[in-house]
Amino acid sequence: MPETSDKIHDIVVVGAGPSGLTAALLFASAGFETVLVAPAVNLEDGRTTALLQDSATLFEQIGVWESLRGFATPLSKMRMIDATGRLVRAPEVTFDSAELDLDAFGYNLRNKDLNRVLAEVAQEQTNLTFVEDLAVSYDFGDENVTVSSQDGMPIKARLLVAADGRNSQAREAAGIDLRRWSYPQVAVVLNLEHDRPHNDTSTEFHTPTGPFTLVPLPGRSSSLVCVVTPEQSETLKAMSTTDLALELEQRAHSIIGKFRIASEPQSFPLSGLSAKSLVGKRLALIGETAHVFPPIGAQGLNLGLRDVASLGKLLTSARGTGADIGSAQVLSRYESDRRSDISTRTFAVDALNRSLLTDFLPVQIARSAGLYLADKVPPLRRLLMREGIAPGTRRKAPPVRDGVH
Ligand SMILES: Cc1cc2nc3c(=O)[nH]c(=O)nc-3n(C[C@H](O)[C@H](O)[C@H](O)COP(=O)(O)OP(=O)(O)OC[C@H]3O[C@@H](n4cnc5c(N)ncnc54)[C@H](O)[C@@H]3O)c2cc1C
Repeated sequence: MPETSDKIHDIVVVGAGPSGLTAALLFASAGFETVLVAPAVNLEDGRTTALLQDSATLFEQIGVWESLRGFATPLSKMRMIDATGRLVRAPEVTFDSAELDLDAFGYNLRNKDLNRVLAEVAQEQTNLTFVEDLAVSYDFGDENVTVSSQDGMPIKARLLVAADGRNSQAREAAGIDLRRWSYPQVAVVLNLEHDRPHNDTSTEFHTPTGPFTLVPLPGRSSSLVCVVTPEQSETLKAMSTTDLALELEQRAHSIIGKFRIASEPQSFPLSGLSAKSLVGKRLALIGETAHVFPPIGAQGLNLGLRDVASLGKLLTSARGTGADIGSAQVLSRYESDRRSDISTRTFAVDALNRSLLTDFLPVQIARSAGLYLADKVPPLRRLLMREGIAPGTRRKAPPVRDGVH
């Protein structure tokens, strides 16, 4: 529990998904007195996350990469295959991290492992108090913000960082407007074992219902994100494991051999969300509290972790100049730092997803031409690869432990 209800902390973070946990760890390790308010961490999430290079670097910075690397499988190549079966089809494109002089574009981890490791480190972190409770109300004052949890004492801080997800009550309490939309698609996710090696290659088939993406896990196993219609998702989930394995192997054109189902399928209806402002009075939004879009090209959490890194940097620099970390001036810098990255990713992922769903010929031609150029024009390839990882990426990725794949 925080010491007294009168104590004013530096930062209170609400929500212990991967964005909130990482933010709390970053702030606390930078010396900010931080309180994290959230119910128990989700250890049932069957998804995996392809963490791109900058995310791994952030985890290295806060000292958790050592604990995560044993669960991480490198992603050295990313392959995109047009399986739309349409009149105009794009060429197959393979991006290779070696072309950017990188060991890997990033690493794939089970969300269960990611959340568990982050939560374990958070329990031990100096300057961090983890209040395992739901936040229920917010009072945004001129000098500080007060968060009340279900069972605990009110917590006061200079700044509230809202990471309570797409249905954020903190965002609503602050009156921040948003744009929400939905897609006629559901992502079915599960893990698979297969006969042939994946060679650290992630393969994204573009199908008429959305992407079908295999992402490497340790050994001869991979995670699958299969985006289909809501009806097809019910059909897939009702299948026996033998039939489901066969059906998915056919959809994967047997590129990594025979499949065995290694986890219970889970489904996630696809939707989008964009908060009209990333800040409010003594409030900053991060992760899916601020932006949600379909799982294409491993962008969602990576974008959220860039919010965290940007906010951490701004707060540290504000403290260095003696500025109030929850002031409107500091928060408006966060808004301007993050707006363009968020808008660009949201637009690009939405456009690519919709281009798969439409039969409209000019859109098909534009998508195919884009991928053709990405395949044939080296400077464009490199630009797309860099932009796909993170704006302005240049560095080597942190190493992964030998022998995990
Ligand atoms: C199928 C699929 C595959 C994906 N794959 C990738 C990928 O490969 N790479 C990638 O970068 N992204 C991926 N994403 C996106 C990624 O999963 C999300 O961006 C990420 O999980 C969002 O994390 P978050 O911490 O922002 O939000 P959440 O994980 O939603 O966390 C919000 C937290 O807030 C808590 N909370 C809610 N209300 C309260 C309250 N009142 N008080 C306290 N706490 C509260 C919740 O319990 C929850 O733990 C994928 C998404 C999907 C659907």
